[in-house]
Amino acid sequence: MISPDELSNQDETLGEGTFLVLGILHEAVSSFSRQHSLEDLWVSVCRNARWIVPCHRMAVLLSSGARECSIASRIEAGQMLDRFATSFDIDEDLTSRLLANKGVQWITDPEAFSAEQDALHQWLLKDQPAALISVPLKLEQKPVGAMVFVLKSYKDSDQPLLNALIIGYSLYVSMAYNLLNAMTELQAARQQQDLLLAEIEAQNAELEVRNADIQSKNVVLENQNAELERFTYTVSHDLKAPLVTISGFLGLLQKDIDAQDKAAIKGDLKQIGSATAKMAQLLSELLELSRIGRLMNTPENIDLTDLARGAADGVAIQLEERGIEINIADDMPTVFGDPGRLNEVFQNLIDNAIKFMGQQRWPKIEIGAQLDDGEIRCFVRDNGIGIQSNYHQRIFDLFDRLDLKVDGTGIGLALVKRIIEVHGGRIWVESEGEGCGSIFWFSLPVDAGQSLAW
Ligand code: ADP
Repeated sequence: MISPDELSNQDETLGEGTFLVLGILHEAVSSFSRQHSLEDLWVSVCRNARWIVPCHRMAVLLSSGARECSIASRIEAGQMLDRFATSFDIDEDLTSRLLANKGVQWITDPEAFSAEQDALHQWLLKDQPAALISVPLKLEQKPVGAMVFVLKSYKDSDQPLLNALIIGYSLYVSMAYNLLNAMTELQAARQQQDLLLAEIEAQNAELEVRNADIQSKNVVLENQNAELERFTYTVSHDLKAPLVTISGFLGLLQKDIDAQDKAAIKGDLKQIGSATAKMAQLLSELLELSRIGRLMNTPENIDLTDLARGAADGVAIQLEERGIEINIADDMPTVFGDPGRLNEVFQNLIDNAIKFMGQQRWPKIEIGAQLDDGEIRCFVRDNGIGIQSNYHQRIFDLFDRLDLKVDGTGIGLALVKRIIEVHGGRIWVESEGEGCGSIFWFSLPVDAGQSLAW
């Protein structure tokens, strides 16, 4: 390859080497296309320039603001130099001439300019060069800087060819600059787009989570509404029954008073009294049910064995009267919850076990607990009358009673279910059917403390 010195030293070389130089120009352009950043491009521009223009120093100047310029890259005697860290004022003197948008400009009297000005002047005018040549760099047709070539010596006859080469080179450089700049902007726009897309995706995901949350809350609300409707219906229906009894017996009472039938009057009053008592019981239990959602006692750690024993002590007389044996496991775990409410659970389940024991020869109740699937499962087992499988769900509904001859309101298990649910658990029954006894299971989360939905 031809060297800059050979180019400047031999008269005929420029003429003969024209094709060579065009080849070099082609090389330079393909080297530009391999650069991925503007900084790399300016280095490549400096490196390739010295093979085209036989210069001693070369720099790429970029205007930074209206009155300032900086050096994007510079080379001296084939060595790349660091850029000056600071930018320089565009003076009326040398830099404004170098940056003037006037095609190829030759400054053939560099000695007329003061080298004292600043580091840029000093570097450009060092060692009294023979000429400075500048050519504008354009971005989207607007001048944005210049390439400056510093020649130690030159021949007037070289000027036309050098001008042609410099113009050609500057066109390629500007083209590469425009292309890379557009690519950089495109990349930045793409990155921005990717960021926006990621943001939109994140927002969408958040919206989906919120929607799912709203949907699940809607399902809960719908269930609650349906439950409320059932509740209102059953409440009004079941409260009506004792009222119908009372009003019926009031009519009879009137007749029996007219007939002065003392025995019948007594009987009427008894029926009215028991219907009133039934209604009072229904109302107080309903009130109790409505209160479950609210905190009655501060939640605390409760030993289930102690709790079950306390509940069993409360019905000790009935147990003894009916000859029922009760076994309570002494290794039941501790749970975190409302002691008053959980006591009601045991009381109701033990009461029912006694009530629905039937004519069992060896009546027995067992209470225990086990840890399963990360939850505490507690059971109350009896060997009483049992429950047919088609009633296993229904008995937890309000007012659902299987045997109307046995005293009760049908509220107890609904109450128990609500208490367990408030503690974050579930309740279910297992029974092989009539005469086979029943096991009432309820679960409580191990960390019930955190999930108490008071
Ligand atoms: P109540 O006991 O006031 O009737 P509950 O809601 O406690 O109301 O019980 C609903 C129904 O479930 C009872 O009427 C009974 O038919 C059935 N039941 C509850 N516990 C048992 C049990 N341990 N054995 C058999 N049947 C039971």
